[in-house]
Amino acid sequence: MTIEECQKLYDRVIGDLKKTIEEESFLELSIENKKISKFLNGYIYVVAEDDFSLSKINKFYIKRINGFIPKYTDETILFKFVSKDEMSSLMNTEEVSPTSLEKNLDDKYRPGNIDATYTFTNFVVGKSNKFAYTFAMQTAENPGKNFNPLYIFGGVGIGKTHLMQAIGNYMLDKDIHKKVLYVEAKEFCDDYIHACNSQIEKQRKIDEFHQRYRDIDILLVDDIQILCGKDKTQEEFFTLFNFLINRNKQIVITCDRPANALEGMADRLKSRFDQGLVVDITPPDLDLRTDILKKKIKTFSSKNDLPDDVLEFIASSFTSNIRELEGALNRVMYYSVFNDSPITLDLAKEALATLIKSQKNANKYANNSQVYENIQSVVAAYYNISVNDLISSKRSAKITLPRHIAMFLIKDLYDLPYKKIGSLFGGRDHTTVMSAVEKIENDLKSDEELKMAVDNIKKKLNI
Ligand code: ADP
Ligand code: MG
Repeated sequence: MTIEECQKLYDRVIGDLKKTIEEESFLELSIENKKISKFLNGYIYVVAEDDFSLSKINKFYIKRINGFIPKYTDETILFKFVSKDEMSSLMNTEEVSPTSLEKNLDDKYRPGNIDATYTFTNFVVGKSNKFAYTFAMQTAENPGKNFNPLYIFGGVGIGKTHLMQAIGNYMLDKDIHKKVLYVEAKEFCDDYIHACNSQIEKQRKIDEFHQRYRDIDILLVDDIQILCGKDKTQEEFFTLFNFLINRNKQIVITCDRPANALEGMADRLKSRFDQGLVVDITPPDLDLRTDILKKKIKTFSSKNDLPDDVLEFIASSFTSNIRELEGALNRVMYYSVFNDSPITLDLAKEALATLIKSQKNANKYANNSQVYENIQSVVAAYYNISVNDLISSKRSAKITLPRHIAMFLIKDLYDLPYKKIGSLFGGRDHTTVMSAVEKIENDLKSDEELKMAVDNIKKKLNI
């Protein structure tokens, strides 16, 4: 396709879009009369007016825009909106596969399979995620070569899914024909059970299942911890894993904890997860949180900037979870719009008061056994022992110290009654727990090594 043909297609498709949305929303996108400057590997690139319109288009309109294309051509092409910076780095990129474009590409490998807004460019890099970012990037550049599988682990809302999908988006940007498959482990599980349970044409369903997961270039499996305790699905995943690795197809896995802390996961899978490269993302520090807020604010409006004191207030109130940090920023923005008043520290405090209060209380009233189990497994993993050992009656020093630390953390963070803590550790007596907690409290005053260990564990717990 020539640039002129791309331009013609663009103008028609945007004409279609204009007819289907309200004028005000359409104008906000600043999308009309744009010049096409690049056509590469099946993508027609358009530079968006600013970060605000770029994020609006990618979030709400890109699917609709690309949906008009088949009206005008049979070719497998898509529009892609990028920032000026992305465009200038693209200008030096060459065609990857000069072969003619296949028609009727299978739908499931369309970029729509993953979220186009999760890119490396949108991922703000800081101390806590630099390592993971670097190796994710290298994996995207050389899939199936160096780090296979790439295993990314860390707490909730700190960018695992974003980073994983950025790998997929990067590969698709280079070549629309790459077969990228993103799947939540839960969906994999459901797919498999569905195929196995089908009453009619069971074999065909299983063959289809195999084809879906095997005929690919890269498999992105999110939240693998869901497979714990699901033996049959694990077996199937093991077979798939070996099938892909033996063919040098890249696998990327995310998890909420290190592989050795996965209770109920087959040992042979755990050791496979460790055989490539393991990277972790820790909670964001203040610098990273501030940088993320600065970047996100640009997606609300091209003009908006947050006053420094508001930025600092939000960044220091939401410390462990980037999703919550984003949520807080959204709330402040909308609060300001609805009340038609400028963003000041007072307004931000008012807007976030209930969120901050509920965050504080969440710690105090956590009444969820998963939270305690998580502490046990993080502490056990930190000391390289199993949770079974941690709650067993064994008394070797290698096990009692982590056990006491886990008890201390549960008391300290959630103020659970001693008796309840005892029951979490194989039915121990409340006095045993009490003296363990007191011992750690005392030792922490003088033992630097212990203090560091507890701090590290807290970091891993996102606290
Ligand atoms: P996880 O999978 O670890 O629970 P997500 O990847 O879903 O977390 O991230 C939660 C939200 O925070 C997403 O909206 C994501 O885009 C955003 N986010 C996380 N890390 C970053 C980062 N480094 N830069 C920009 N946004 C981020
Ligand atoms: Mg996730």
